Amino acid sequence: MSLIVQKYGGSSLKTPNDIQRVANRILKKKNEGNDLIVTVSAMGDTTDDLLDLANQVADRPNPRDLDVLLSTGELVSCSLLAIALNNLGVDAVSLSGFQAGVMTDDTHGRARITNVVSDRIEKEISNGRVVVVAGFQGITENFDITTLGRQSSDITAVAMAASLGASFCEIYSDVDGIYTADPRLVTTAVKLDNIGYDEMLELASYGAKMAPRSIEMGMNHQVRIVVASTFNENKGTLITKESELGNNIGEIQNKVRGIASDTNVAKVSVLGLEPGFTTSAELFEKLAQADISVDVIVQNTGGAGKSDITFTVKRTDLYKSLDIVNQVKESIGAEKILSSSNVAKVTIVGAGMQDAPGYAAKMFRAISDQGINIETITTSEIRITCIIDESRLKDAVKALHSTFELEK
Ligand code: ASP
Ligand code: MG
Repeated sequence: MSLIVQKYGGSSLKTPNDIQRVANRILKKKNEGNDLIVTVSAMGDTTDDLLDLANQVADRPNPRDLDVLLSTGELVSCSLLAIALNNLGVDAVSLSGFQAGVMTDDTHGRARITNVVSDRIEKEISNGRVVVVAGFQGITENFDITTLGRQSSDITAVAMAASLGASFCEIYSDVDGIYTADPRLVTTAVKLDNIGYDEMLELASYGAKMAPRSIEMGMNHQVRIVVASTFNENKGTLITKESELGNNIGEIQNKVRGIASDTNVAKVSVLGLEPGFTTSAELFEKLAQADISVDVIVQNTGGAGKSDITFTVKRTDLYKSLDIVNQVKESIGAEKILSSSNVAKVTIVGAGMQDAPGYAAKMFRAISDQGINIETITTSEIRITCIIDESRLKDAVKALHSTFELEK
């Protein structure tokens, strides 16, 4: 018997019918002789609807109680799925994050899992039951309910797989795998059979629709993750160690494997900082305290010795970021603050780019040949990211996809 963890996203659980479809898929896996832990997201857009409700009773809902509210979405889907399974004759039990032993820190709205106390789940599994766990939620030492961050029920699934030693963690949604680029932008995008953790972590961090923290956890605990569709039987994409991919090394090494694109980006510029300005620490400390992660950071020194700092944040964090920049404006001696939300990130990723010259040049040429201005650039060993005008994102992704011959 092997233990499999599955996760079904909100788009796979929109209606009672969808829930029955998922229940039937689980029944099939169970009949093949597997033990199963199933993690779920909230039905459809439930989490957005709950957030809307909170915003109707308060401008800034307090984080602790907001987490109690948001956690209810996954309680609805996990209980309904267990009901549907029992109706099919599958012995199933629904568990909240708390009951499933998902322990977290107390950062409400973006809590991190500290441990999984798996006794209850192990007991249920050994009794032959399918365990359905509410994703996206956990509990603090003080028994306060937390949530892990938007789109984070993947993290619950990978944590379950890691702590119970499952053979695979299968992530099901309405897309059937990881593509060379977003298929909505590039019709010739190709599904990858497999991809290494490092590459997937970069793709997820720069726009592919998976929680980067789930990839990180998979990598740290060697959990093989399969991304596939709820709506067909296609094979999906396997995410695992590079050395397990069984690919011809030479082939991987010369390739950009995928292009990520992200429009949840905004740019903030702090201008006219005095010469000898040494207080950037103050600004970025304040942003970090507010749990805002800053990505691209560029500092320029102008003619009069004054300098400017430009950085990007998630577009959804822009107003919070501007509040903070305005608070420290005086003490860091800034003259002017500018911001823009009309920007996007386009990223190429490939383990083969390490120490291989020419990829950056080729990328910049492909983008500028489209008449697109590159505002800022950042890189890691296996990634190059350009910030461009959001309205040209599709053109940039298409051009890069063909330049790096990803349709093949
Ligand atoms: N339901 C949560 C959200 O929409 C978590 C998830 O879908 O992964 O953010
Ligand atoms: Mg959701």
